[in-house]
Amino acid sequence: MLPEITNELILESSNINLMNKFIPTKYHLKSLCCGTEFPDKLWEMQCPSPHQPSLIRAIYDKKQIVLHPEYSGLYRFADWLPVERMLEGSGEPVTFQSEGLAKMLGLDQLYITFNGYWPEKGAFMKTGTFKECEAYSVCGRKNGSNGVMVVASAGNTARAFARVCSENQIPLLLCVPLDNIQALWFDGQLNPCIKIIACEKGGDYFDAIHLSNLAVELDGFYPEGGAKNVARRDGMGTTVLSAVTTIGKIPDYYFQAIGSGTGAIAAWEANLRFLDDGRFGKGKMKLMLSQNTPFLPIKDAWDQHSPIMLPMDDEIARRQVDEINAKVLSNRKPPYAIKGGLYDALSDAGGTIMAASNQDAENAAELFLQLEGNDVEPAAAVAVASLIKAVNEKMIDKKSIVMLNITGGGIDKYKSQNSITYVTPNKVFALDADPAEVKHQIAELFQ
Ligand SMILES: [Zn+2]
Repeated sequence: MLPEITNELILESSNINLMNKFIPTKYHLKSLCCGTEFPDKLWEMQCPSPHQPSLIRAIYDKKQIVLHPEYSGLYRFADWLPVERMLEGSGEPVTFQSEGLAKMLGLDQLYITFNGYWPEKGAFMKTGTFKECEAYSVCGRKNGSNGVMVVASAGNTARAFARVCSENQIPLLLCVPLDNIQALWFDGQLNPCIKIIACEKGGDYFDAIHLSNLAVELDGFYPEGGAKNVARRDGMGTTVLSAVTTIGKIPDYYFQAIGSGTGAIAAWEANLRFLDDGRFGKGKMKLMLSQNTPFLPIKDAWDQHSPIMLPMDDEIARRQVDEINAKVLSNRKPPYAIKGGLYDALSDAGGTIMAASNQDAENAAELFLQLEGNDVEPAAAVAVASLIKAVNEKMIDKKSIVMLNITGGGIDKYKSQNSITYVTPNKVFALDADPAEVKHQIAELFQ
């Protein structure tokens, strides 16, 4: 036993040294509505001036990014992350030039940014999705609260936050749809500081958000913030930081499947930072986004040139969500109309929103496995399917630089190499549960 203990101690002390070396990032915040600039005091989510809903953005002191190989995982990109501490265990997006898929499609410069598990490529996100980028960034952000962070998720975000918070002892309440509980798998037991509540069968992500809204009304609970959290967006933006610093140039096209579209907003914001940086070109990537048929609310709004989301019937939306394989693409309240949100991003950068059926996505996943050598999760398969469609329909120039953001993959690979356990929720609530009772039961979980 003794040698093992000694090794652990050595590892631990070297980690402490690494942690001590981390220098908090210098940045402040800016309202995208009125331009007010202000410091990040305690978990700021909005402009201090009262006005229409607007995203705020982190403005980093360093205009030219320097990568930090001395930091671990995602924190290599700390120059453009609003973080004051480095947590253990993060992976990072990995970008490589495609051969197999590129050849099949006849693309000269197809770059794949892979988020997930693919040790042969240096990709070590153990929950298999780019939601880890968000979680390690959010949990590294300055936070004055000692309370319980509340996260609503359709699945992948919950898995990522559960892992990060469990490993770093950060109290967390996860709100998920029971229908997506299979997404909560882990290679070990979660720390008891993680509690999970679910809305009953038939409920979707929107219903999970409802539970989270009730939770944050309680004392001692604070919202993670979703798209409004600059750390979440800039964490997702590391996919573009990885791509641009690897390629040496801003790509012409950016392909990603969207649920809320937060990843696409983040990609656009990262692009704007690179324009300020000045060393990687002057272009804006066209945002080639995709949703999973028949659930296409963002596509429907964008196709009609609507600056706001179109009205949606709850029951029809739930049925559509039930049909799609890419459950993580099921957001009914995306940050589309908000100032600095998806409508602004698409309007500024240009681009389109495409649709892919379950069958298109399954075929695309199969192709990716054959030609590139790893499994991709259903949402990423939707992005691959839309790339294939864009090429077939001559929507893009084959000589252009194309970035394909594989937002999740290697999950089958990881599961086959590790022993996996699934969690059961601490509480399941009916869709019409009494709000006061829900809050009472949530509070009890953390007593
Ligand atoms: Zn403002």
